[in-house]
Amino acid sequence: MGPADLHVHSTVSDGTVDPAGLLAEAAGIGLPAIALTDHDSTAGWAEAAAAVPVTGVALIPGMELSTREQWVSVHLLGYLVDPLHEGLLAETAMIRESRLTRAEEIVRRISRDYDLTWDDVLAQTAEGATIGRPHIADALVARGHVVDRSAAFAGILHPRAGYAQPHYAPDPVTGVRLIRAAGGVPVLAHPGTRGAQRVMPESKIAELVEAGLFGLEVDHPENRPDAKEPLRALAARHGLAVTGSSDYHGAGKANRLGEHRTPAEVVARIVDEATGSAPVLP
Ligand code: AMP
Ligand code: FE
Ligand code: FE
Ligand code: ZN
Repeated sequence: MGPADLHVHSTVSDGTVDPAGLLAEAAGIGLPAIALTDHDSTAGWAEAAAAVPVTGVALIPGMELSTREQWVSVHLLGYLVDPLHEGLLAETAMIRESRLTRAEEIVRRISRDYDLTWDDVLAQTAEGATIGRPHIADALVARGHVVDRSAAFAGILHPRAGYAQPHYAPDPVTGVRLIRAAGGVPVLAHPGTRGAQRVMPESKIAELVEAGLFGLEVDHPENRPDAKEPLRALAARHGLAVTGSSDYHGAGKANRLGEHRTPAEVVARIVDEATGSAPVLP
């Protein structure tokens, strides 16, 4: 397997391209492998796997598990988990259920001030998809209240605006243990988006390493430039791998598919360590 883009979202969560379409786009830009990492769901794996022989693009099935430390949302990429692991199934079902009731509550609050209904949000959400603020953002765009998702996140959906609220999520140590228990390989997603001064404390990173953390997603479009060298040093001190990914969401974000990639030797180590499932090769 060649270098891979290890963080990609489809319509199974808040991306705008369906799983098969993502593999077709990867083929179109000569990207040899991608990981499908929808939020709290493996529901896109089958469709993506079916597109492997058609496109010649290798698939590393994964997910992006939502966790929370205090009030800060922490995302964990879990590669090659067993999609039928009972603990993981139960936890992700609970998170998705809470995401749904939370989205309904956010829409209820917004609808006091803006013309917006729950049906507007459903119209932007694929059947069975893990719902999130991006779907509410798309509904706000369709109603003409904002121009795009970014404007919605900067305004109405920003916590300061008073409408958004968090959903249930386990703590990151529990998340790392769960991904390992399901035979998967856990990587801390975009740890530098809030700058070098606000990376997770090293003592907490050490706890995650103790729990089984494999790596840090250092090369990510939203990690701030000043955070990257400190993150590389942190990875070196704790024996963590360093990954690179785009966090592509289709038209939902400026991130371009394949803009960051993980070297083949790191991808091979992930495949070697995983016992939950196997990559799908052309
Ligand atoms: P939620 O899952 O409801 O907490 O929403 C967070 C999701 O929204 C993340 O997966 C991000 O990819 C996406 N997101 C965050 N900020 C933005 C933005 N400015 N523009 C588009 N998508 C965003
Ligand atoms: Fe997302
Ligand atoms: Fe994320
Ligand atoms: Zn993501």
